[in-house]
Amino acid sequence: LFIAFEGGDGAGKSTQAARLAGSLESRGLTVLRTREPGGTPIGEKLRSLVLDHGHGHIDAHTEALIFAASRAAHASQVIRPALARGEVVLTDRYIDSSVAYQGAGRGLGTDAVRGVNEWATSGLQPDLTVLLDVHPAEGRSRRTAGDAAEDRLESEADEFHARIRQAFLDLAAARPESYLVLEAGQPVEEIAGLILARVEQLLSA
Ligand code: C5P
Repeated sequence: LFIAFEGGDGAGKSTQAARLAGSLESRGLTVLRTREPGGTPIGEKLRSLVLDHGHGHIDAHTEALIFAASRAAHASQVIRPALARGEVVLTDRYIDSSVAYQGAGRGLGTDAVRGVNEWATSGLQPDLTVLLDVHPAEGRSRRTAGDAAEDRLESEADEFHARIRQAFLDLAAARPESYLVLEAGQPVEEIAGLILARVEQLLSA
């Protein structure tokens, strides 16, 4: 079972992934938690290329291809092997993040970015994507309160985040059977319960 957590910065993806991992492990399942960009040694290097300051400006196409390269390694070296071992894989971000950030946010086009990433991952798609939908203004306050030191997008306009949010929602609307869209402002416990209920459905199907 392959589950992706998606949503804007400060949506609570990693908190919910950790919660779900704990719940599934207590049921005896083996869970692999991973994240993008990153997830492999080469992926972590690529992550720091894009996210660390000091490399100068990276143009949007280069950034998109670095994310796709990181994802190719992640899919082939981490996600596919774990799925083949019968593990549950939870990833903090996947293809939808690139479609939203580079496709819609940076204006490269959502179809183009999706195409590059489907090629990069040989079509590996999550069984479920949990979209934690965060209102742009709320996302900003959460980011400011949290540890967002490496987030070079931090200072960009709310308009950028609004485009990203809409792109995530559009992806979910196009394939509702593969998405669970939750309002990120709800209490953590409530969100965790809704996610677990949906995942239990998938596990018993
Ligand atoms: O998920 P996390 O907050 O660690 O992601 C780091 C940053 O990378 C985020 O601030 C997000 O804005 C950015 N990102 C991106 N394009 C992606 C994935 C993440 O710009 N495809």
